[in-house]
Amino acid sequence: MSGPVEPTFDLVFQDAWIFDGERTLPKPTSVGITDGRIAKISQSHLSGRQTVNAAGLWLTPGLIESHIHLFDFQNAINPEAMGHYIKEELPKNLRSFLDYGITSVKSVGDPLPEIGDVRNRLASGDLSGPRLLMTGVGITAPGGHPSATVYGRNPWYRLRAASEIGSVDEARDVVNAMAEKGVDAIKLLLQGGCRCSGEPDYKWHGMVSIQRMKPEVLEAAVAEARRLGFKTTVHTFEEERAIEALEAGADGVEHGVVATRISDKRFIDLLLKNDASYVPTLWVYPRAEAMHNLALVRDAGVRIVLGSDSFAPTVQIEGLESGMFGANSIVEAERMALSGLTATEILRSATGLAAVHLGRSDIGVIAEGRQADLLLLQADPTVSVENLKSPLKVIQGGRIVVDRAEQQA
Ligand SMILES: [Zn+2]
Ligand SMILES: [Zn+2]
Repeated sequence: MSGPVEPTFDLVFQDAWIFDGERTLPKPTSVGITDGRIAKISQSHLSGRQTVNAAGLWLTPGLIESHIHLFDFQNAINPEAMGHYIKEELPKNLRSFLDYGITSVKSVGDPLPEIGDVRNRLASGDLSGPRLLMTGVGITAPGGHPSATVYGRNPWYRLRAASEIGSVDEARDVVNAMAEKGVDAIKLLLQGGCRCSGEPDYKWHGMVSIQRMKPEVLEAAVAEARRLGFKTTVHTFEEERAIEALEAGADGVEHGVVATRISDKRFIDLLLKNDASYVPTLWVYPRAEAMHNLALVRDAGVRIVLGSDSFAPTVQIEGLESGMFGANSIVEAERMALSGLTATEILRSATGLAAVHLGRSDIGVIAEGRQADLLLLQADPTVSVENLKSPLKVIQGGRIVVDRAEQQA
């Protein structure tokens, strides 16, 4: 005779259909979580202190959003305004990601030291929100984008959120400075969000005269980052500039080619040669050319990573709805679908492939030993990204952080 079975795991999801970050497992499967990690994946029932009957429901990895800007670059014009944002706006903005199932984000240009402080507060549990990876400031040319453009009217912010470099020595110095701040990757901006016709200085939206980064400065920054063990990702807009970034050795392009349809085979060859990621940001650039190009790089087998370029909802930009953190990432997924990507391809871009892009082997996949960052969904997300909306539960590090339904058995 034996007594009742002692629970083995902290939390168990019983009999779920599982998309594991790469593919759908063939049979309903149970997942056991202990100490915030996925401890067991089994086709037998598992015993947990808390058990969720997930029969007929779906589990996916928590989503990863790889291109955001967390701070309000328009209104944070001095320490007081920044303090107001951090106190009044930031907590709900961070929660908003979780509400939409985004459990990790990558900031690709935000002010220091503030972005580092937020990362530390999230890690300690002082703030509730996604895991935060960061590049620190955006590194650009003197008078380049975003310094002279979107930060042009905010000199206080401009100095904190971007670094304007004009020489090879400055390139090495700023990469080392970012390394000391504990960044996860290096972000460079080669040009503005506009065409620049190859000239060193050009007009951004016909208004602001700006500079683009010199090729030798870009090359030095990428080489120094690599020497220190960091991946680099480069903001591009035109095909010619994107080729330049990849020739310098970039590991990713943010926005990719937006200005025109891709016409040069070299671009795709270089993406593959560098094993680089393509981050389409269709939320911010919903252009026919960008959507066409996304399908093209998909056909070539390039790693595509979901990133929307979302910014704080209190920022107002003419012709662009600010939307909400998290919600914008789902819009991004919908626009990727409109571009011709399958729901499975889009899911991979926000889970398994995103983890590769970020160099994080602990997230993005449902596998034993990984962080228990999970979504519990009503319906099959590999059929339609619409099924990612309103997850029943969002689990982060083994804790249920969003709960829309009482499913406890
Ligand atoms: Zn950009
Ligand atoms: Zn951006």
